[in-house]
Amino acid sequence: MANYLFAPAPVFSLTVQGVEARFPVNRIFCVGRNYHAHAIEMGRPVDKSTMKPFYFHKAASALVESGSTVPYPCGTSNYHYEMELVVAIGAAGFRVNESDAARLIYGYAAGLDMTRRDLQLVLRDQGRPWDVAKNFEKSAVCTPIVPMGRLGVLQTGSIALQVNSVAKQSADLSQLIWSIPELLADLSKYYHLQPGDLIYTGTPEGVGAVVSGDVITGQIEQVGSLQLTIGTAE
Ligand code: MN
Repeated sequence: MANYLFAPAPVFSLTVQGVEARFPVNRIFCVGRNYHAHAIEMGRPVDKSTMKPFYFHKAASALVESGSTVPYPCGTSNYHYEMELVVAIGAAGFRVNESDAARLIYGYAAGLDMTRRDLQLVLRDQGRPWDVAKNFEKSAVCTPIVPMGRLGVLQTGSIALQVNSVAKQSADLSQLIWSIPELLADLSKYYHLQPGDLIYTGTPEGVGAVVSGDVITGQIEQVGSLQLTIGTAE
């Protein structure tokens, strides 16, 4: 055993539906602007013929399991939800072809890319990194993972979110600008994808703010349902 000065950071992991072993999380990649209507609501439309997907990261330590209550975070007064399909990687891949991308997929989950929107917009307009707006404690909400199994490579399925039971987001996975195989092929040009990596695939339109006391619920067809309660400010 190595002799460390202090206890190393814990391994962050997720439960897997129907499987006893947990899924240990490595990196969390997030895709920006991957639904046209959301890109437009953010004032940054996407032209797939001339543009490429882009990515940012969250630390695995930002994970929080669905069903949790999280404090309203410090440093923001415009805390937004973004409901997203999460792809869980189960096999290594580098420069994979779209036609071969399915072998990388372990399964799927429903996730929330929680965002300090006020900070993100300022950083975006200044051309600065989004980190403090996106990558902070308890900002990556995730349900248990559903193994891919008969689901195959998801191409359709409803994705929806409610705040206090009021519908806010309602779309379909078929509206993803870059499909799951396209994302895996593109991302693996830049990274050696590894088992344990998660990919948050982007949010549809209807993002908005939550406040202390709100309860967020969300569903992705065939994948899962999530819930997050916003607690008092920390
Ligand atoms: Mn997002």
